[in-house]
Amino acid sequence: METIRPASRLAGVRYEIRGPLARRAAELERQGFEILKLNIGNPAAFGFRAPEALRRALVEGLPQAEGYVHQKGIFPAREAVAFQQQERGAHHVSADDVFIGNGVSELVLLTLGALLDPGDEVLLPSPDYPLWTAATTLHGGRPVHYPCRPEDGWVPDVAALAERITPRTRALVVISPNNPTGAVYPREVVEKLAALAEERGLIVLSDEIYDGITYDGAEHVPIAPLVTRTLCATFGGISKVHRACGYRVGWVSFSGEKRGAREYLLALDTLASLRLCANVPGQSVVQAALGERSIRELVEPGGRLWQTRAALALGVRHSRHLSLVVPRGALYAFVRCAASGFDDQGFALELLEKRHVLVTPGSGFNVPYRDHFRLTLLPDEATMGEVLRRIEEQLES
Ligand code: PLP
Repeated sequence: METIRPASRLAGVRYEIRGPLARRAAELERQGFEILKLNIGNPAAFGFRAPEALRRALVEGLPQAEGYVHQKGIFPAREAVAFQQQERGAHHVSADDVFIGNGVSELVLLTLGALLDPGDEVLLPSPDYPLWTAATTLHGGRPVHYPCRPEDGWVPDVAALAERITPRTRALVVISPNNPTGAVYPREVVEKLAALAEERGLIVLSDEIYDGITYDGAEHVPIAPLVTRTLCATFGGISKVHRACGYRVGWVSFSGEKRGAREYLLALDTLASLRLCANVPGQSVVQAALGERSIRELVEPGGRLWQTRAALALGVRHSRHLSLVVPRGALYAFVRCAASGFDDQGFALELLEKRHVLVTPGSGFNVPYRDHFRLTLLPDEATMGEVLRRIEEQLES
């Protein structure tokens, strides 16, 4: 039979978090090995439960969830998101400006799909959450990465970012709290990003899916209230803060200057219509989720995420090879290894084969260097200690 070639527009599309290493891990598991998988931020896989209020809302909503609903999502869910955004100070947001999707992931694909023409440029952080780069490439856009460096606490270098703006730049992607670095951008940086986007007429795409996950008093600063002269899209969801990623629910709300965005928002509505609607049972929990705060117990001193993060920081301090900017938010750490000859891909493969630990190589996050890897903070403290012990053993060998 003739070889079936995939579409050539997929040639540059990568998502290593679930790539060849993850496939090899699954193979080892099938052979009976127990693999400590720290490659994915999937709370349920580490014993976290969705809050009871969400589970009850899901069950209560089920009888009404058998039909298609509006392509933008059910009204109570959109209204709840609009209220949240208004309370945060976002400008001109109503339920009509909110789209509910099958997770933020689907909305990233739809918002970029409705926006980009071939060759249009999108400014993305490096390191980034690789879906953003993949979705830009998939839709014919050109990803342009701006540096976020460890010596700056992984916060964007706004001057370097400004230098990368060209007449083809359409949008600026901001991810704070950040995956993979755990950076939480301070107010003055968020203000500078908003001012730059307004000055240069860029659409702001702000991924705030980790908005409730910050440590040691770090403050999440939403960008929407600072953006009035251009369009701002804020993405959020229940996958992380509410530990309910399997429900597949996320949202995007549009604020700021919408007069020039009418056609774009109609195009987005068309794309949303093509997939009919987002999964309906999941939508019935949004209202309950937005009034629910149990994440705080997990991130405060003594809480499970806080403890694991402390165990990681301690392990790295004792390591002969590793260094880390301790994450201030989100569910990950982006760890550097200074061992001579270290190569992130080779290391991750050996760590998997020999020590049965799965991490994601840093190069999967669109960085030009190969001396980092990412792991999630979701395991318990003891498991994190064990993982660091195996990593150190591997590096010593
Ligand atoms: N954005 C960021 C920064 C993420 O880390 C993730 C998932 O890890 C997503 C979006 C996707 O989230 P969802 O489960 O809502 O599709």
